[in-house]
Amino acid sequence: MNTTDLSAPDPGTAGPAAVEPTAVEPTAVEPTSGEPTAADLGRLRERYRAERDRRIRPDGTAQYRRTTGEFGFYADDPWSPPVAREPVRDTVDALVVGGGFGGLVAAARLRDAGLERIRVVDTAGDFGGTWYWNRYPGIACDIESSIYLPLLEETGGMPTRRYPPGEEIRAHARAIGERHDLHRDALFGTEVTGLDWDGDTDRWQARTDHGDEIAARYVVLSSGPFNRPKLPGIPGIETFAGHTFHTSRWDYDYTGGDATGGLDRIGDRTIAVIGTGATAIQCVPHLAEGAKHLYVVQRTPSTVDVRDDAAYDADWWASLEPGWQRRRREDFLNLVNMLPPEHGGQGVADRWTDIAPVRGAVRYARTRGTETLSEALEIADAEKMDEIRARVDAVVDDPATAAALKPWYRQMCKRPTFSDRYLQTFNRPDVTLLDTGGQGVERITPRGPVVGGTEYPVDAIVFATGFELGADPATRAGVDIRGRDGRTLASAWADGLSTLHGWVSRGFPNLFHVGALQNAASVNFAHVLEEQATHIAAVVAAARRRGRPVVEPTAEAERDWVRTIRERAVDGHAFLAECTPGYYNFEGRPRRRNEQFGGGPVEFHRILREWRDGSLDDVLGGAG
Ligand code: NDP
Repeated sequence: MNTTDLSAPDPGTAGPAAVEPTAVEPTAVEPTSGEPTAADLGRLRERYRAERDRRIRPDGTAQYRRTTGEFGFYADDPWSPPVAREPVRDTVDALVVGGGFGGLVAAARLRDAGLERIRVVDTAGDFGGTWYWNRYPGIACDIESSIYLPLLEETGGMPTRRYPPGEEIRAHARAIGERHDLHRDALFGTEVTGLDWDGDTDRWQARTDHGDEIAARYVVLSSGPFNRPKLPGIPGIETFAGHTFHTSRWDYDYTGGDATGGLDRIGDRTIAVIGTGATAIQCVPHLAEGAKHLYVVQRTPSTVDVRDDAAYDADWWASLEPGWQRRRREDFLNLVNMLPPEHGGQGVADRWTDIAPVRGAVRYARTRGTETLSEALEIADAEKMDEIRARVDAVVDDPATAAALKPWYRQMCKRPTFSDRYLQTFNRPDVTLLDTGGQGVERITPRGPVVGGTEYPVDAIVFATGFELGADPATRAGVDIRGRDGRTLASAWADGLSTLHGWVSRGFPNLFHVGALQNAASVNFAHVLEEQATHIAAVVAAARRRGRPVVEPTAEAERDWVRTIRERAVDGHAFLAECTPGYYNFEGRPRRRNEQFGGGPVEFHRILREWRDGSLDDVLGGAG
């Protein structure tokens, strides 16, 4: 059982192991109000199902609007001017598609492996990926920085806080680029459009939207899960006459202020923010402080747990023994995946290590013999959600607003959030929660959103409506990829993904995938990406030592892994089918085929280590 990645990857493959609701005797406290609690699991289940059912829409994932066509301006980079330059024609050792943390750590590790020419290409104007684009007020990470920030122990320096602001994270991305001399060959403001394998030279030929033609021995694909913002499919969205923008393209010319807040140009403006996910949780308090009036338009409330941020203590930081980042990361990974920590805990426990499945596993261990795993998980989840809902009552003054802000689903149905400011915002007289009862905004007129038959005139609408997730892994990078004999990756994977350990695929030599594909992700996605990068670079180093130009899995090795993935997939279907709709369950229609390794990331990382300590014949031996 594992708690797979919830902060990033392949939607629907995330979520805890299957947990079929079963009849159990309640052990929690008696309900103190008319609302169901852990003390009455039957009623709680009914409530959860009712909330799910009234949110399921026939159009499912098709309800959203892509940021193309009339919304194509979202592809523009608000943070850097367009790049005008002569096309590049050259040969490099490695081409890395994507300069977010996945691409950066891959490039850094390839540099460590001795590669000289490494060209990172990104549509953004600098490194950082999602931390480059997302600069909304209040942006911060909610994974502790000591374990989140990649290569931190090597790069050095102490983050200011446990959960540092986005600006600091972006600066760290730049620091990785500088330390590994990656700016030198980087092409920013540039999109890779095509990749063709040239079997004569054993190189990839890359094309870009700037007319570049780059030959590369190795290509790393790391397009990231949050590379395309999406808009809600609300009728009339295009008719709104006021100002609009998506949170990932924040318009500070309009709002004033910066990512730390201080939105000083909207004091006479009425603003609506649509969406109440992890992004809204962070930016809503700042919008409320700046705007004359703020409407928070809610379809489904998030779970908002305690954040408990604090500045790091310099003495404690100085006391960390070498190897601390690996140890802290491993212990966090174990804890969130319901395993005992290997290094004594390292003090990494926080609200993530207290999420419902972790509590459930602890409960199961304690009550072994009297409760099944399903029962223990369900009861622990109900108790956790009781606490989350009780917190709303404790913080929010107006009972009707508090009632609307309570989430009615199991905690891992949606991405958990953490804030000590969001719920408090609803006590302000200049903030109104517009709860849509799970139905979403009815329509948008030229004057504003319509909710419950009432039009709310506003000056601006901010879309905190997330990103296109669940795109086809073969095409989501937007690159036309043709491997041996001109075969496209899309056609090779038409009947399902096929990789060895998620990072390399037969017919596509020297093309390495970084991200969530037939592997095991986790909430600390940056850790997982670094494991993948280390692995790829180790194989490349071995290939170079042995004078082998081509890394490509044998048919047998790939087949074996695909079989393993199918046999040991994370079976989240039953759990996700009971969940309120969202991107974890493809808007209420979880897919049966699951491409995440059910053994979880701890076992997966061990599999990778043991495999690469072996002969590597699977990719350097019989292939080619
Ligand atoms: P999400 O996809 O999580 O949230 C989108 C929101 O828009 C939901 O509340 C959704 O409601 C709402 N919505 C969609 N359509 C409509 C509609 N028609 N009417 C009203 N509301 C609508 O996007 P976010 O940008 O918040 O987060 C994306 C991901 O980014 C997170 O899941 C997380 O992984 C990552 N993130 C991580 C952070 C970190 O600290 N590490 C911080 C911020 C984001 P509904 O729930 O009903 O679908």
